[in-house]
Amino acid sequence: MAGVTVFRCVNHPDRAAIGMCVRCRSAICADCTTKVQGINHCLKCLERRVAPSDTSVRRPAASTTPAGIAASFAFFALAFGVAGAVVVALL
Ligand SMILES: [Zn+2]
Ligand SMILES: [Zn+2]
Repeated sequence: MAGVTVFRCVNHPDRAAIGMCVRCRSAICADCTTKVQGINHCLKCLERRVAPSDTSVRRPAASTTPAGIAASFAFFALAFGVAGAVVVALL
C-alpha cells in the first residue's frame, strides 16, 4: 500500500492510531484514546484536564509546597489580623 500514510500512536509506534487528540493533535491508538463528552483526548491531555479539579480534592499535597505554605501563612496572618481588630474593637 504505497502512498498510504498510516498514522501511528505517539505512545505505541507499533500500533495504528484510530484517532487524534483534539488538544495536542497527537495521533493516538484505541488504548490511549479517552473520549470526554464525545471528543478524543490523549492520556497526557486528559491528566492535564483532570488535574485542576483533582488538586482541590487532594489538598494535603498542596499545603506542603512553598506556595501552599505561603498561602496558609497569609491566611493565618489575615485571620489573626481580623481577630486582633475584633479584640481591639471590643476593648
Ligand atoms: Zn493530547
Ligand atoms: Zn497508544
